[in-house]
Amino acid sequence: MAVDLHMHSNASDGRYSPAELVSLAVKAGLTVMALTDHDSTEGVARALEEAGKYPRLKLIPGVEIGTDVPHGEVHVLGYFIDYEDKELKEKLADMRNSRGHRATRMIAKLYNLGMDIEWRRVLELAGDGSVGRPHVALAMVEKGYVGSFKEAFDKYIGREGPAYAERDKMTPEEAVELIIKAGGIAVLAHPYTVSGLEKMLAEMKKAGLAGVEVYSPGATPDEVKKFHRLAKGLGLLITGGSDFHGLDTGSDVPLGQFHVPDECAEALLAREKSRRVK
Ligand code: AMP
Ligand code: ZN
Ligand code: FE
Ligand code: FE
Repeated sequence: MAVDLHMHSNASDGRYSPAELVSLAVKAGLTVMALTDHDSTEGVARALEEAGKYPRLKLIPGVEIGTDVPHGEVHVLGYFIDYEDKELKEKLADMRNSRGHRATRMIAKLYNLGMDIEWRRVLELAGDGSVGRPHVALAMVEKGYVGSFKEAFDKYIGREGPAYAERDKMTPEEAVELIIKAGGIAVLAHPYTVSGLEKMLAEMKKAGLAGVEVYSPGATPDEVKKFHRLAKGLGLLITGGSDFHGLDTGSDVPLGQFHVPDECAEALLAREKSRRVK
């Protein structure tokens, strides 16, 4: 097995189309992958169609829902969701609309800071996908207002930045409930970004959280150990993924290069199987 349970296509802010991502994953040797676009399941059908060409590849339909808490953001992964569920699709479409609206507010703030970013260009960079801060950052780099993607976040559009704008809020618990309602298995993404993790995990578990993404490129070895212990203690599944985007952001690990233990996929697949038998 070669496993990656977290990646993005151009249905959100990834570079590659769902079909391209699948064929790249196969070339990179992956045998279990999950497509987890931000607030969108629009790429899943095309990814599954492409995956059908590769009998050795297991593709898990997924989503990554962005939620807000008072001092940051919490991302919740949903695996094996019914990606055509009407309520889920509507709710995600609302979230994407709100993202577009939010990006225009950030552009207005940047304008007041002397930076002229064109909305049309940001939309172009987003392509068919949902608009995200990365697209605003890329437009800023293009125009030379910042020297790098990271600088755009550090100086302007990061959470504490002067051009940051908030999205419509959903709580982590609401995201867990939405995923469960759409038949999915909810997992907390990249926990190293979450402050007050233990309390958050306990609350999300009450809402039905099933797992924790223990393995992610941003977590230190000590953090991985800690997350492992916390997950075990709460009886939560242990998962992992690269969060591959394919963009030149300086932080991506090449596809297939981030090691996720086989047990992560085995446990998730076993959970899905046991749900289906019931
Ligand atoms: P959004 O969903 O529009 O809020 O954008 C979130 C995405 O922006 C994340 O998935 C990252 O790819 C990127 N991002 C967020 N914060 C930073 C940061 N400080 N530096 C670089 N990229 C970031
Ligand atoms: Zn992203
Ligand atoms: Fe995320
Ligand atoms: Fe992600």
